[in-house]
Amino acid sequence: MELRKDPVTRTWVVVGEPENQSESPEACRFTSGDPKAATLLELPPGENWQVRVHPHSRAFYRIEGEVARSADGMFDRMKAIGAHEIIVETPVHHRSLEQLDDAEIERVLEAYSIRIADLKRDARFKYVAVHKNQSSGSSGECFHAHSELTATTFVPRRILYELRAAREWYRERERCVFCDMLRQEIRQKKRVIDSAGDYYAFCPYASRVAYEVWLIPKSHHHQFEADRGNRRQLASLLGRSLRRISQIAAGYHVALHTAPNTLQTKGELSDYWATIAGDYHWHIEILPIIEQRTKSHSIEEVYFNARVPEEAADQLRRLDASRC
Ligand SMILES: [Zn+2]
Ligand SMILES: [Zn+2]
Ligand SMILES: [Zn+2]
Repeated sequence: MELRKDPVTRTWVVVGEPENQSESPEACRFTSGDPKAATLLELPPGENWQVRVHPHSRAFYRIEGEVARSADGMFDRMKAIGAHEIIVETPVHHRSLEQLDDAEIERVLEAYSIRIADLKRDARFKYVAVHKNQSSGSSGECFHAHSELTATTFVPRRILYELRAAREWYRERERCVFCDMLRQEIRQKKRVIDSAGDYYAFCPYASRVAYEVWLIPKSHHHQFEADRGNRRQLASLLGRSLRRISQIAAGYHVALHTAPNTLQTKGELSDYWATIAGDYHWHIEILPIIEQRTKSHSIEEVYFNARVPEEAADQLRRLDASRC
């Protein structure tokens, strides 16, 4: 497998097939903890673990080796070096993240934080992303509640967009665009759904999909993994938000957006680090998967969202967010 860069859109693409084939899907490997996989982290450690992290069995990236960036005529390519990990959120097979209690969700967030910080010590990795797909299990994908983490030698495109825009905003105004956005949301009270301590949940002004929700701390911080805020409150807000969303959506995508690895001094973001602590602001994006009828869609990456975000926020606000 290798990484190839489209010189026009500057998108890196993983080309090739993962080497390991996954085992038979009948038995869930996560319920007992994959015995064949090395355990990278266990919280709490030992027999009574709730969260367990191990390497993905069909990893897109390999952890060993040099990045070996090379030219192929006008094109750029590099080895698919990186990390691809599975974060099992609970040993219980049919419990989704939103069914866990606040302390348990906090432990999942703690695992994200520990693994991100650990992988960022490796200067080869420019970005560590955590995402999660929760669906009703129709696609044959593993239903067991888990998140995936990838550490990559490039910054994913969506993050690059955010970084560039945030830096420009900061250069012009000496303010963080995310802080500005949240201040306006709190002032206008149109799209804020919920809050817990320092953390807010709101439908973004230009939501890409119906009922899109962002979670963000009011106190500015560029790195999720280094933010010493009250994670129990964040866990509580995340749980409540997902419980609202799961009442109207068949599933959801969650993506944690934190600052890239600032150990990196070369390459496409080398001039970036001067202001990153001030201009970028970590956040969590939740994109619900809505059934066909009200489905959001995109044509050539222009999004069409049938649900006005102010109405979506109003509807979400009125839904019961308590654990059942
Ligand atoms: Zn399971
Ligand atoms: Zn900010
Ligand atoms: Zn983002």
